[in-house]
Amino acid sequence: MLSYLLARSGVGIALLERHQDLDREFRGYFFQPLVLKLFDQIGLLDKILQIPHQHVDVFKFVDHGKMLFEVRFDELDPPYNYGLNMPQPPLLEFFIREASQFPNFTYFGGTTAKELMKQDNSVIGLKARSAEGEIELRSRLVVGADGRYSTIRKLADMSQTMDKFEFDFVWFDMPKRLEKDYPLQIKIEDRGMLIYIPKGEDLVQVGWVIRKKTYPELVKKGIDDFIRTLIAVEPDLQDALPQYLTSFKQCSVLDIQVGMTDEWVKDGLLLIGDAAHIASPFSGQGNSLAIQDAVVAHDAIMKAIASLARCKSRR
Ligand SMILES: Cc1cc2nc3c(=O)[nH]c(=O)nc-3n(C[C@H](O)[C@H](O)[C@H](O)COP(=O)(O)OP(=O)(O)OC[C@H]3O[C@@H](n4cnc5c(N)ncnc54)[C@H](O)[C@@H]3O)c2cc1C
Repeated sequence: MLSYLLARSGVGIALLERHQDLDREFRGYFFQPLVLKLFDQIGLLDKILQIPHQHVDVFKFVDHGKMLFEVRFDELDPPYNYGLNMPQPPLLEFFIREASQFPNFTYFGGTTAKELMKQDNSVIGLKARSAEGEIELRSRLVVGADGRYSTIRKLADMSQTMDKFEFDFVWFDMPKRLEKDYPLQIKIEDRGMLIYIPKGEDLVQVGWVIRKKTYPELVKKGIDDFIRTLIAVEPDLQDALPQYLTSFKQCSVLDIQVGMTDEWVKDGLLLIGDAAHIASPFSGQGNSLAIQDAVVAHDAIMKAIASLARCKSRR
């Protein structure tokens, strides 16, 4: 998003992505309504809504069958009165396609940032590696938008304060059963906590909350034991789940971390998104925070460029 905005504003941009494709498993599909407004303000909402997606009207928290509370997106002012459920890969591809219209934008897929280039205390570019070899990119600003395990943050020696978080999530995808709809919800019962995130027309992403670092114990007890526990929380899964979930190979464990990088900025360097702050996954805020960072960063960078230009014209 930041690359697109800067490219559109005429700034020379090199966007690096270490993976060849953007098809990342188990990434959040949910975007807060505020993101719709931001997409609209940059003039791309109508095009983005052509990507297959679903509207999310409500986010429910159900405790032992009773509604604890619900977040009603449909009570917000229209037209931004729904959450957006949209897979990340086509959205990322869309932004890269849009940015590629500008000759000042270059995309380096399958290219991993490896080393910061420094002069005195300033960052003046980076070295990266791809299948073709090493490249050196000199730039006035390096933006670390490389996620929660940010290489850029580590290379810049920027410390991070982590909150204590006692839980991890186990995720798996389940086909939506025709007779039952699983809206976005968190369901709490004696045996545990289930999270449903609708994922496209046919799938629902199911999350199971476990005590931190206890995934190996869950695996050791076996898949049948896991299925029994899930059915104790959601008896409706009795028929479908044993047929569908047959192995822990279908599951992925998310080591939940919540934290904030102590500094986000150094001379020639900026961190945004998860690289700067990792939000609790419970309320689906990470995507929206990362997008807001991009919008604010674009504004700040363009003001800085404009004030340098003002300096020149005043001279
Ligand atoms: C299982 C799961 C479910 C989630 N659900 C939601 C949700 O429903 N809603 C929500 O708002 N948030 C959700 N989140 C959080 C959300 O995915 C993140 O907050 C968001 O993706 C952060 O965006 P980002 O651009 O900062 O980082 P990322 O999306 O992590 O992107 C970082 C990118 O940098 C690339 N990269 C990393 N290192 C390098 C390197 N050295 N060189 C080049 N490229 C590199 C990575 O390959 C990646 O493509 C979820 C997260 C997880 C893990």
